Order: sequence, then C-alpha cells, then structure tokens
Amino acid sequence: MSLKTYAGKRDFNVTSEPAAESGRGHERPIFVIQEHHASRLHWDFRLEADEVLKSWAVTKEPVPDTSIRRLAVEVEDHPLAYADFSGDIPEGEYGAGHVEIWDHGTYRNLMAGKEKPMTLAESIEAGHVEVELHGKKLRGGFALIRMKGNDGRNWLLVKMKDDEARHDSKAQEAAKKEKPEHAKPTGRRRTQRQERPAPPEEIECSSTGKMMFPETGITKGDVLAYYGRIADRLIPHLRDRPMTLERLPDGLASAKSPHFWQKDTPDYYPDWIPRAALETEDGRTVEYLLVNDRQTLLYLVNQGTITFHPWLSRIGSLDRPDYVLFDLDPGESSFADAIAVAREIRSVLANEGIDAYAKSSGKTGLHVLAPWHGDGAYDEARTWAMEIAECVTDSLPDAATTERRKSARRGRLYLDVMQNARGHHVVPPYVLRAVPGATISTPLRWEEVTDDLAPDRFDIGSIFRRISHQKDDPIAPLLAAFRNK
Ligand code: MN
Repeated sequence: MSLKTYAGKRDFNVTSEPAAESGRGHERPIFVIQEHHASRLHWDFRLEADEVLKSWAVTKEPVPDTSIRRLAVEVEDHPLAYADFSGDIPEGEYGAGHVEIWDHGTYRNLMAGKEKPMTLAESIEAGHVEVELHGKKLRGGFALIRMKGNDGRNWLLVKMKDDEARHDSKAQEAAKKEKPEHAKPTGRRRTQRQERPAPPEEIECSSTGKMMFPETGITKGDVLAYYGRIADRLIPHLRDRPMTLERLPDGLASAKSPHFWQKDTPDYYPDWIPRAALETEDGRTVEYLLVNDRQTLLYLVNQGTITFHPWLSRIGSLDRPDYVLFDLDPGESSFADAIAVAREIRSVLANEGIDAYAKSSGKTGLHVLAPWHGDGAYDEARTWAMEIAECVTDSLPDAATTERRKSARRGRLYLDVMQNARGHHVVPPYVLRAVPGATISTPLRWEEVTDDLAPDRFDIGSIFRRISHQKDDPIAPLLAAFRNK
C-alpha cells in the first residue's frame, strides 16, 4: 500500500502529523475514529489493513442505529501511527484544524468468515466491508457499502443488526416498508440523502375547523396556514436541533385542555420524520425528532404542536451552542426596563465586536441572541454570557439582576442566561406562542427596540403584513454567523 498521496498532501516541516511510513501491523487489527474540526467538521473512520489505515471521512457523527446511514467518503490511506494522532493541523496545511480521537479499539473482519472469505483490502476492492468494532462508543457490526458516483469514493456506513444495535425493531419495520415504497424513486430528497424515506409531497390535515385560540378566533386551519407560510423563515432556526414540542391538541379551548411537552418521538410517527437518539444523563435514550423540512413541520402542527422549542446546538456538535440567549423576563418590573436592558446588552456586545439580535418572546419579554464564536461547549458559552449579563446589571443596577432567587430580585427584571445549557431548549424566532393572543416570537430591528414597542404587538393576524414590508429578515445574519458543521 502506498502512502504517496498522504505524503503529497502534507508538509512535515509544518504539520505534526505522523510521517508517511508504514508501521508494523497489530496482532488484532485496530480501528480509530477521529473527530476532525476542519473547514467542515467530520469524523475520520480508519481501519487497519496491510500496515496502513484505510480511511473514510464520515460527514456526521457515527451512531449505533441501524436506521441511520452515514455518508463516508473514501480518502487516502494514512500511516498506522496516525491512529494515535490528536492535535492541531496548522492553518494553511491540508485539513487544517483540530483533531481528536473520538473512539478507538480493535476490530474483526467479518468478511473473513463468509463462504468466499475476503481480507479487509479485498472487501474494500469489492465494495462491501463488514467489521465488528470493539470500541468504547461503537461496538458490534458495521458495514461499509460503496455507492455509485464520485468515482466509487462514496460509501455508506451502516450499523448492522445485532445486540449492540439501537432501535432494531423500528429499523426492521422501516426496511419492510421501504421495499414497495422505494421500488421507484420518490423524489429529490431520496436521492440526495439516502438515510430515510422521502416525506410525502402533501401532509393530510385533520379537524382544520377546530377552534384553537377561542379569544382571537384562530382555528387549527389558521395555525397550519401560518406555519406553512412561515416555514422558509422558521426552518433554518430548527434544522438539526433536537426538538421539544409544546402540544395543545385542543388549543386553548379551556383551562383544562391538555397541554404537554414532548421530547421522545412516539413509535407511530412516520419513518420519514428524521430522529436523533440521544442518551440522557440517567442513561435513558430519548429519540428526539428533527424539524428539517416543511412536511415534518406541518405533520407536527397537525398533531397539535403550537410551539417548537429547539436546542441551541445542532447534531454534529451537540455540546457546542451556535448562539447564546439572553432572556429578559420583566416579571414585576416594566417592559421599559426590558427595552433598556436589551439595548445595554447590545452595546456591551458591540464593544466586543459582536452583533446582537433582538426578538419579542411572544409573551411578556424580550430575547437577545448573540452568536457564540468560541470553540468551547455550553459551560464556556454560558460563563461568557454571564459575564456580559453582569456588565449589563452593573450599568443598570436598579433595572436588572442576574439573581436566580426571586426574593433577591426585588422587583427587578431577571436577566436569565442559565438556559444556555446542554439539553435545555429555547423559543426560536417565528414560533407561535400558546397564549390567548396567538402571538409570535418576532425578530426586531434595533430601531424598533424603543419605548414604543409593545411586547404582544406581533401576532398570527398581523405578522405577514409586517414581513411583506421588510426588505430583509432582521435575524437572518445570525444564521449566517453559525459555524458550518
Ligand atoms: Mn479528516
């Protein structure tokens, strides 16, 4: 095996990556997965064979879930010593960015035990690899299957069904259904992302005449129409973020109407709705759904979802928020205080060279959002947000406090940054709130954040008039500030 390509891409006077020398093979072959924060975050999956590491760049975090297939792009062979490499590839070098070992261990070549046994190199040649991984995060059978196109460099990484697999039964159901449904191509999405069945073109809606907001005469049909029209602005704020749904299937019909919060995805939800299985702190697995397309959005609204509450981080780097949220809850103080505090946050952030974005919460408060540019995870982002918040409360000691205890707030506005934490969810721009006025959490231009602003001014009945007069979406630049995943 040649490491020529590997060597040709690198200047070993500059990078600290291992030299292009083949090593001594291990008695039990090894695998390693490196999390690589290059211009695009990816996971490098490497299997020892013929004294080098055969390598694939996996575009998303590998998961032991049989229903999820990951695109794995074949890349050049790496030296065996690369399995121990972690650190920073300098700017300007090939693959510049941070590398860390995500998982490692040994593997067994399952193709060696087939009727026609193959070595790992032979199975790569044949376009069908099956290995049993003995790692810390990944265990059990994984298959790599070569796809057509891209000169055969595109593969799919798939968890095989075994005791280590998650959601086995669901995957089997999906596989059963998949055959008849996908005998012929069912749309663009299917060919682009081969992970799930394509969503249907149209979502069937039921009980559209049901009164959801009796005070304002808003029906379920109105709510569906709202979300259908706002989808293009809203979905970019939801995409790839684990979601909590605030569901009121009967709306605000009465104080006794059901009102619940849903994290886990019920089994009966259709297969085309994307999901992310995440482990909670107490070791349970919650299957969060992801609202990545209009069909999913409308399906969930039809199920009685009024408000979508996403995480601040996305699949691919769930520990690092894309932005921080300053939640300005006036409580017993006045909305004028919220205005003053929001403007002060903006000015403190401006001193750090960071743009801030304001929106109404849709209830009584204001939200200020700022992109998180640091590499750090939630704890670091929250510490930073708290420093900003404390600068603000130092300037406006009579108006605002970061004091969590209600009794210590003494009527001042609570400037809350504690929601910037893994597993917490927030109110994103453009969602409808479950309050009688059918208000919308509405992005604001800073010129509008003045004493003339009413917290509940924007609602389902007026929002599109407002939008039709806007040249640009005031919160779009926040999305542009997020790091590519
Ligand atoms: Mn890489």
